[in-house]
Amino acid sequence: MRFSQAFMDADIVQDEEVSFLLEKISCPVERVSSSKVVYDAVNNAQDPISAAKKILYITRNRGAVVRECPGTSFYTCCDYTILHTGTFCTMDCSYCILQAYFHPPVLQYFAGFRQISQALKEVFSQNRIFRVGTGEYTDSLIWEPISLSPAFLVETFARQSNCLLELKTKTINVDSLLTIEHNEKTVLSWSVNTPVVIREQERGTTSLAARLRTARQCQEKGFQLAFHFDPLVIYPGCEAEYEKVVDDIFAHVSPEHIVYISLGSFRFMPKLKPIVENRFPDSVICYGEFITGLDNKMRYFKPLRIRLYQTLVQRIRAHSPQTLVYFCMEDQEVWEKCMGFFPGKQGELGGLLDDSAILHCKLRSF
Ligand code: SF4
Repeated sequence: MRFSQAFMDADIVQDEEVSFLLEKISCPVERVSSSKVVYDAVNNAQDPISAAKKILYITRNRGAVVRECPGTSFYTCCDYTILHTGTFCTMDCSYCILQAYFHPPVLQYFAGFRQISQALKEVFSQNRIFRVGTGEYTDSLIWEPISLSPAFLVETFARQSNCLLELKTKTINVDSLLTIEHNEKTVLSWSVNTPVVIREQERGTTSLAARLRTARQCQEKGFQLAFHFDPLVIYPGCEAEYEKVVDDIFAHVSPEHIVYISLGSFRFMPKLKPIVENRFPDSVICYGEFITGLDNKMRYFKPLRIRLYQTLVQRIRAHSPQTLVYFCMEDQEVWEKCMGFFPGKQGELGGLLDDSAILHCKLRSF
């Protein structure tokens, strides 16, 4: 992780967390009294999105630390809870929604373990199960080489019983986590794809083989695991290549350690397309048989999605009939044709995921 520059709010106290971070980043750090300085540095670059991946902003979270995943009312939602620890990413995937989501994108690290602890205390004291993740607005583990935060979270979740922590990544940054007494409350999860998609669309990420080797290493340390086939990209011959990814997963890890596997096909807001065309001129990812979905995102034509999903579901079930497989943002027809059922009632999909979390992570509410 190499930064060209770092900014830090003037009022951030240099405690153990911040000292560790400053020691690890080898670039000049400028204290700022306004975020405008950071936004200007990003906006004035020729390619603000690329520049933002090299400019670190150490700041405080001034909004909600814990929030419900926005989901959408049109597609089945999994009732996930987001722990907001930072934004943006140092890796560079062509399809990354964060390129179009933030204006401009800024690589923010939210310092302040006390603020996180307080917000989590509320969650830990409720009489219900939570699945909490930090990988919605950033990659959960890009921070691990420079920050005590991932280890702090694993240790914090180990001391409670009603919440699962999911750290979702495309890195292999787990070194500081492997020796922690995690009490099975942390799920390490990887977004996976075919080697050709990783090579052509995911700049700066690790290979599939490296991700799966790391997953096995984590399993050996007793961690629970999850895998996300998202985004599935449709191209000639993709079915066989995705089947091979499924085979590779089960060749590396045991089904008993997999809490869930999600499937989601490539979808994008129309405003992402010019960004991809501009920043990834060789990418053809936005050219295919797309239609506009109910949420105004472009999605593959439904029969194409269903065919690929059916192939994957069948392959996963051949390896492990009991593993929970779910769709991220799909509709009734897709569920019924691929899974044979539709968790359409409010909270139903969340309930299925909670049950698997309870089983694998030994969760309990009061
Ligand atoms: S790893 Fe995730 S967050 Fe990072 S660029 Fe890729 S899609 Fe975006």
